[in-house]
Amino acid sequence: MYINMDESNKIKEVLDKSKNILIAVHKDPDGDAIGSGLGLYNALIKLGYNVDCIIKNPSKCFDFLKNFNKIKLDENELKEKYDTLIVLDCADKERIALNRELDDFTNIIVIDHHITHVEFGSITLLEEISPATCQIVYDFLKTINVDIDKEIAECIYTGILTDTGGFKYSNVTSHTFEIAKEIREMDVDISDITRRVFETMSFNKFSLLKLGLNNLEIIDEKIAYLYLSKEQIDKYISEDEPDIHEGLVNYGRSIEGVEVSIFIRQIDENIFKISLRSNAYVDVSKIAVEFSGGGHIRAAGGRAEGNIEDIKEKVLNIVKERI
Ligand code: 5GP
Ligand code: MN
Repeated sequence: MYINMDESNKIKEVLDKSKNILIAVHKDPDGDAIGSGLGLYNALIKLGYNVDCIIKNPSKCFDFLKNFNKIKLDENELKEKYDTLIVLDCADKERIALNRELDDFTNIIVIDHHITHVEFGSITLLEEISPATCQIVYDFLKTINVDIDKEIAECIYTGILTDTGGFKYSNVTSHTFEIAKEIREMDVDISDITRRVFETMSFNKFSLLKLGLNNLEIIDEKIAYLYLSKEQIDKYISEDEPDIHEGLVNYGRSIEGVEVSIFIRQIDENIFKISLRSNAYVDVSKIAVEFSGGGHIRAAGGRAEGNIEDIKEKVLNIVKERI
């Protein structure tokens, strides 16, 4: 058993006592955030709970998942009161895409897999070795005896697929394959999901990728650096594809000899989002923590305020120290 039964029973008790439950995920939601949010939402609905799921700016790429159209997109679509908040895939409370005080909830259940997790829940299921929050949600659902149907499995599979880069990253465990086996046996169309999330690119995304590849710099042979301004991204971004820059950071990492890939994007005039990836030995989660962020050993992110030239220098200096 991968989930502690005591914790699982505690969660079940809280859910049974709750009149209204709200599921929330992290800002800039990825496949794991959306997959775990909808997977859990669909399962809890099936068990008869009153539950809403809020996800801000979900990419339409995931609209094939069951009840994608039921997602609450912002606070004004929510009920006034929820007793219980379930937070998924968030390393810390600042990452939650929800503009409500945590004190407004009687219970906060947290399910997460980040090595940099800073506890904020009343009950926390934290499994750092899990490659995806979806993997923990799947195991949790088994402990509460919900019949995991094909649609729930599709949500879970999507999150595992995206957070493991298609079962390619070092975070994959043998248990990941056990779950994938069970899901495949449910007749989930895995090639369709792969095609949708990895092998389809809008023309806008393709155009941003071309621009990004042209701007990519290699520094000291081991560092790939890419910067895109808000103006450059705004030319291609749309409401259907708010995560258009997703995956860009991976291209630098695949260049031979590169250990760390850095992608900085401008969010506002003086605010920048930093994405970090490494290949073999640099723990980028530690670098991200220095930029008010966190993540995993091979994939992490943070943010910085100020002037891009100063930020570039600071990030490069820290990366160079660890290379
Ligand atoms: P990405 O570079 O794709 O945005 O994020 C890579 C990883 O870093 C993800 O696991 C994500 O959760 C984590 N991450 C990205 N930005 C932040 C952040 O601002 N704070 C924390 N704690 N983690 C982040
Ligand atoms: Mn995740």
